[in-house]
Amino acid sequence: MECIFCKIIKGEIPSSKIFEDDHVVAFLDIGPCEKGHTLVVPKCHAARITDLPAEELLPAMEAVRRVAKLLCDRLGCDGFNVLQNNGECAGQTVPHVHFHVVPRWNGRGKPTWKEGKYDSPEEMAAIHAKLVNG
Ligand code: AMP
Ligand code: ZN
Repeated sequence: MECIFCKIIKGEIPSSKIFEDDHVVAFLDIGPCEKGHTLVVPKCHAARITDLPAEELLPAMEAVRRVAKLLCDRLGCDGFNVLQNNGECAGQTVPHVHFHVVPRWNGRGKPTWKEGKYDSPEEMAAIHAKLVNG
């Protein structure tokens, strides 16, 4: 069975894409810890960060920084987390390397990694539009 993120990269299944260049694609996570939670995914298929060719790392980190800035500028978050899981024991459920960028706001208590959801597809589309169009 082909990797789900490779299918998203090829456009075979839909995603709420917010950024793409030759090396990476970034799209909204469908089970967000916070609304706006985005995944930055190198186009090169590798299961773990240790399998990723070194030359793909810098473009991936540049995209992480760009996405984090977008979240702060367009959603007004006060901070953000960058997380990257490797292996089932570490919580990795999709075996294609990806970076979680999670917006965080002051006053919401201790941040958790609990999977959440959007109230409706329209709410997710509105956040997507804000990130893409400003
Ligand atoms: P990890 O647990 O680090 O492997 O993260 C995988 C993430 O991918 C989870 O947060 C899922 O909610 C997310 N995810 C799985 N399938 C999709 C999809 N089709 N579109 C967007 N996010 C997805
Ligand atoms: Zn893949």
